[in-house]
Amino acid sequence: MPDKKINEIVLRGIGGSPGICIGKAYLMDKEGVDVVPKYSLGKGQLEAEKKRFKTAVKKAVDELSQIINDTPEELRENAKILETHVVLLKDKMLYGRAIETIENEYINAEWALRKVVLSIQPLFEGMGDGYLRDRAEDVVSVADRVMKHLTGAQGVSIEAIDKRVILVAQDLSPAETSQIQLERIMGFVTDRGGKASHTSIIARSLEIPAVLGLEQATRIIRNDDIIVLDGNAGVVVINPSEETLAEAEERKSQYEARRAQYARSGHLPAKTRDGIDLAVMGNIELPEEVVAVRDRGGDGIGLYRTEFQYLARRDFPSEEELFESYKDVVDLMPDKPVTIRTLDINGDKAVAYISEPEENPVLGLRAIRYCLHKPEVFLTQLRAILRAAHFGRVRLLVPMISRIEEVIEIKRLMAKAAESLKRDGLPHEKKIPLGIMIEVPSAAIMADTLAPEVDFFSIGTNDLIQYTMAIDRGNRDVAYLYNPLNPAVLRLLKIITDAGKAHNKPVFMCGEMAGEAIYVPILLGLGLQELSANPQAIPMIKNAIRLLNVDQTKTFVERLLQQTSTEQVERLVQKIYGDLLNNGNHNGWGH
Ligand code: PEP
Ligand code: MG
Repeated sequence: MPDKKINEIVLRGIGGSPGICIGKAYLMDKEGVDVVPKYSLGKGQLEAEKKRFKTAVKKAVDELSQIINDTPEELRENAKILETHVVLLKDKMLYGRAIETIENEYINAEWALRKVVLSIQPLFEGMGDGYLRDRAEDVVSVADRVMKHLTGAQGVSIEAIDKRVILVAQDLSPAETSQIQLERIMGFVTDRGGKASHTSIIARSLEIPAVLGLEQATRIIRNDDIIVLDGNAGVVVINPSEETLAEAEERKSQYEARRAQYARSGHLPAKTRDGIDLAVMGNIELPEEVVAVRDRGGDGIGLYRTEFQYLARRDFPSEEELFESYKDVVDLMPDKPVTIRTLDINGDKAVAYISEPEENPVLGLRAIRYCLHKPEVFLTQLRAILRAAHFGRVRLLVPMISRIEEVIEIKRLMAKAAESLKRDGLPHEKKIPLGIMIEVPSAAIMADTLAPEVDFFSIGTNDLIQYTMAIDRGNRDVAYLYNPLNPAVLRLLKIITDAGKAHNKPVFMCGEMAGEAIYVPILLGLGLQELSANPQAIPMIKNAIRLLNVDQTKTFVERLLQQTSTEQVERLVQKIYGDLLNNGNHNGWGH
């Protein structure tokens, strides 16, 4: 239950991206659909109301036909469901009955539609046949579409928002989040989502404060409500009192001052107290973000998530387009490593032109599995990467490796891509460092056999935790299990780093665990050589490294690995390093 204080309401969720903002709420998606207006009609209003209903249905049919027509031929199969919706819209059961209800009961079209849907939905749901049962959902979906046209609540496109607001949505996909215009959108809150979801990762890259997993935000918050969003604490306050507003302003300025202070030291090297140098790199999703990494003192790009270039479009990018983007990044970091990760598509980053619907996308044809299934797509990308490598210090990183056979096949395809470039007479690098992401437990367990095959490991804790704990990283209901300090996760990290040491292969980390100061002692103690985080975290991570002594962290990690529960690990981490490394990010909204 939300906490109340006079008129203000405090909602607690998951801090998706740090920062504090205060502003007006702007509700996206089902706005207007949930609240159905009801009023009686006078005799003279009947015809106009029926006409209004018919127009809304026609608009819904036109809209669906447009989507169907715009669907490329090869994906028409996926548009079948929409054809069913068109049929349903014209069906007597929905259309005819709604008109009858308006006529017989003298009520407005919205209320009539709602009544009809509520009466026919159980008919479908009660049917034994699974196919017909599913049609109940279709009825609701088409009715929602008509309702939007009746109430005038159109689907909102993020790009079209033209005022400074805080977005409130049930959910935002990673692709939608990447379209956010920073000058307009101060922050966002969602009902669903978890800290390690790609949506929250992008929010951190864009430096927009976000609170996710609020469950009821879209029900409780109304358009234009004033809200305080605290992404550090994972708290949203609706209709804040004067006192709360003043407190929020104070926190905001303290947080910004602290960030500015870190930023000033961002360009200093990350050298520990006992003189060990570490590289702190930046994670990016789009070439434009390189500047943020450079400005914050990043020592290179530790993870370039290339799939975003494939998301907001209708067809595969060409080799030339890919090459241009990669070269843009390399040109901005000519003397520093740029780690280009190959396509990590599917999972929560499915794209209509690429993906077949899957029952369990996160366990499906994602990342390298997709690329090896479609070698022509992979080869196009490999060629573009090898060409860009000619202009800088490029490393190749492959996601979602789960067995050695994949690594061997990748090496074969890399050689094939290089040969074809040679044949075409295009400048390229024949061989570049090859790294694999260790983010699936099977790869962590077999790390000692994978190490000799590659040049480096990069640990992806976001997925490693997801797959080790058997939890969907974007699901707020199991977010309590998502914790890098789980002893099973720590043991896997130890296995990976030991394998790297035994084979003299460097081990890096680019998962979000590398972006929080409190985990840095563990990562140092385990012997990681490079950390890569969202750009805004770089100065803070460098600062944490400068406060630590590697020898001490090694002893600390030995103690940590003897703990058996997450709670014990957390307690020990806080006891030894809490005072030194906590950034005042604790939840202080004690209403
Ligand atoms: C990870 O899984 O930790 C990672 C860095 O990759 P992504 O978040 O893109 O899955
Ligand atoms: Mg991953």
